[in-house]
Amino acid sequence: MNYDIEKIRSYFPILQQKVYNRPLVYLDTAASAQKPVQVLLKLEQLHNDYYGNIHRGAHYMADKATVEYEEVRDKVQTFINAASRKEVIFTKGTTESINLVASSFCEKYVSEGDEIIVSEMEHHSNIVPWQIAAQKRNAKIVKLPFNDTGLLEIEKLPGLITSKTKLIAVNHVSNVLGTINPIAEIIEIAHKNNVAVLVDGAQATAHIKIDVQQLDVDFYAFSAHKVYGPNGVGVLYGKEKWLEEMPPYQGGGQMISEVSFDGTTFNELPYKFEAGTPNITSLAGFGAAIDLVNEIGIENIGRHEHELLEYATEKLKAIKGLKIYGEAPQKSGVICFNIEGIHSYDLGILIDKMGIAIRTGHHCAYPMMQHFKMSACARISFGMYNTKKEIDIFMEALNKAIMML
Ligand code: PMP
Repeated sequence: MNYDIEKIRSYFPILQQKVYNRPLVYLDTAASAQKPVQVLLKLEQLHNDYYGNIHRGAHYMADKATVEYEEVRDKVQTFINAASRKEVIFTKGTTESINLVASSFCEKYVSEGDEIIVSEMEHHSNIVPWQIAAQKRNAKIVKLPFNDTGLLEIEKLPGLITSKTKLIAVNHVSNVLGTINPIAEIIEIAHKNNVAVLVDGAQATAHIKIDVQQLDVDFYAFSAHKVYGPNGVGVLYGKEKWLEEMPPYQGGGQMISEVSFDGTTFNELPYKFEAGTPNITSLAGFGAAIDLVNEIGIENIGRHEHELLEYATEKLKAIKGLKIYGEAPQKSGVICFNIEGIHSYDLGILIDKMGIAIRTGHHCAYPMMQHFKMSACARISFGMYNTKKEIDIFMEALNKAIMML
């Protein structure tokens, strides 16, 4: 397929802008992806033409908004190949999806002395919810380590699993190292031992084809804003067998079947886990984002980003004193690095002034920083709209910044 980069870029109005009087080069898609005009128009259309609260109203606009909301559920179901729309729960984002499982799954299945295995390579949002849930039950968190290449030491996994292990939490793609983890293998090992697996897919869904049935994953969490959709919405995929048994996460409207002061019965899936008025407009926008990703093709996007990854990695490696963190053979379009004698924060500020958006800091992954004995690093990350020319502009800016610091 001919990857029509100019056409793709034309969908993103923000990329046509100048910052500090220079054309914007956006290399921070791992933090949040920019929004295409298709999404922006959908947000406007819903607000202008048929806004109403869903599942409640007996009027034209509420009905139309409800149909759209449920159509997005079907789109997500197809996008990740879930067996049933009941298994697609809308949340605020990856963080809320993981908190939901940590709270409800642990309430049902985790007791004192039980264990949850969490990889060392996780974003805080796939560590802290487990710690909170484990603390409440006197359960234990067990660390699955990774090595300096940026690979999980999965040969150690069978030895870490005990009769007390209830769940393994791991990301699909690391937001720092870019490593694409062998989650199918992890899931197979876990299931042989009757252990459930939650995969944090925040950094994967916009770059890799996800097939939850093929993976046989128990829970898969991701955020719309990293898949070119609006912020404030996300998805929890969960196998029906777990979701049926798990208690509700939050109480409120929509998640009930009947309520009286004598007691409440809960709605069927997926509504049991969708208390309150959801983010209706953002969800509709997410539908438009999925349409665009499907139109371009996730494999084509992934291939394009991989070319950028190889191009940028080679250029960065030529810089004296520059260290790249994570050199796994299977990597997504994320590169974290530091340069000897230079603080990444200073680098980020100077590069920003040249019109280039990169990320610096601890990337919400303190254990990762501790592993590499660093406090921060710089990160560039790619989306469907980035180009080799932008990498050249970045490299020029980086070299200038190095000279200045
Ligand atoms: N996990 C990973 C790997 C991430 O990169 C992020 C976002 N940086 C999250 C979880 C959290 O996502 P959100 O803030 O959208 O809930």
